[in-house]
Amino acid sequence: VARPGTALTHRTLALAVDAVSWRVALQAVSAGGFTGWTRPTALVSPFPSLTHVAFARLFEPFGSGPANGYEVRYFDSDANRMAGGNPLTYRSDVPPWGELFDSPRHGVAAKAVNYVSSPRAVLAEFDAVAAEALESSRDVMLMYIGATDGVAHLYEDDGLVEVMLALDIRLAELQEQHRSRRGGPLRVVLFSDHGCGRAPVRYAESLRRLLGEAGLAVVERLDGPGDIVAPMFGIVNYGALFAGSPGAAASAAQAAASHPAVDLSAYAEEGGVIVLTCQGRARIEQREGPDGRWFRYAPSGADVLACADAARRLAETGRVDANGFAHEDDWFELTWQGSYPDPLRRLVDALTGDRVASRADVLLSLDPGRSWGWRSAYAGSRFRGGLKGTHGGLDRGSSLGFLMVNEDGADLPRAVPAHRALRGLIGDPRPSASQR
Ligand SMILES: [Zn+2]
Repeated sequence: VARPGTALTHRTLALAVDAVSWRVALQAVSAGGFTGWTRPTALVSPFPSLTHVAFARLFEPFGSGPANGYEVRYFDSDANRMAGGNPLTYRSDVPPWGELFDSPRHGVAAKAVNYVSSPRAVLAEFDAVAAEALESSRDVMLMYIGATDGVAHLYEDDGLVEVMLALDIRLAELQEQHRSRRGGPLRVVLFSDHGCGRAPVRYAESLRRLLGEAGLAVVERLDGPGDIVAPMFGIVNYGALFAGSPGAAASAAQAAASHPAVDLSAYAEEGGVIVLTCQGRARIEQREGPDGRWFRYAPSGADVLACADAARRLAETGRVDANGFAHEDDWFELTWQGSYPDPLRRLVDALTGDRVASRADVLLSLDPGRSWGWRSAYAGSRFRGGLKGTHGGLDRGSSLGFLMVNEDGADLPRAVPAHRALRGLIGDPRPSASQR
């Protein structure tokens, strides 16, 4: 037990590195990095696989509020207009979990700058994190490095692996400094918010013409039952549509599913979520049980979520009830390594959950590498020979982040959903619960 005035011996730094995929973390370990750490756990991001959505879910156990929208600039469904920052005012917007982060919080805010960021920018952010970790009076510190996102979008996997290996060396140096200055070890929980694909980025033609052909009015604010608001963002392979009526949502999802860049579309209807591709559809239903949630997957025409195999194995092993529902943990176990990790829970949460305040009526997952484009983002990348990856989608590359701890004896699962990733692993990072 630490007496007043004695050094702390069990301090924890929980450090988020944006957009570092599980795949990249494994490569960094294979290249000789992170000895003495646990093997990287796959952290399954919520859908859409974006920073704000993921943080709202990761920090839910610590009382963090929902994200306002999917990105800093978003459609505010209460105000019925676009709201939030633009790329030049990101710095002035502090998201709901901002208070959980220790001071080098410019990272979350400066995302737009990251599109032209480099490995050097990552190390500069790390140096600020390290300085704060050595000085902070808190036992549980939550910090964030945002520049890795830019590296993930701009470089092949090798580039981000090198950055991770450089971070490993800096973390070892920080550990030594911490022992000498604070008199004890620093426990580090390193994790990412989501992954990133590695397909070269290709621009997707606007969806608006297809929506118009389906009889919908693509507008800036929702006034009539046939209206659709369709904000399109940067280097991301997801889409979010807001509809003037349930019928418009269903029509928009149908039209969007025929867009060549759209892998699947989804919307909620009474008692379930409907998923559409150009080849078929599926209905996802959930029921609450005393032991958690149970999901049923009913495809027709095609196995649109690639879950038929998991469903068969669940049935063969007696894990399906009389009505065809299986427990969320069982679905997770059998789908987290699939082409769409944990798709049933993630889609139901995305379309009926409360972690995004201005929730869309229709969500789209685009093929990896397909992006609606963002002029300024492309301008910064042109001289580097094009963008190397997207995230936001339901695909595996986007969906799998990682989690690891610098205690190789720690018992971490092979994979974990975001809402369970940090609970029990770090103490409460809220300022009121600490010494600051
Ligand atoms: Zn990104």
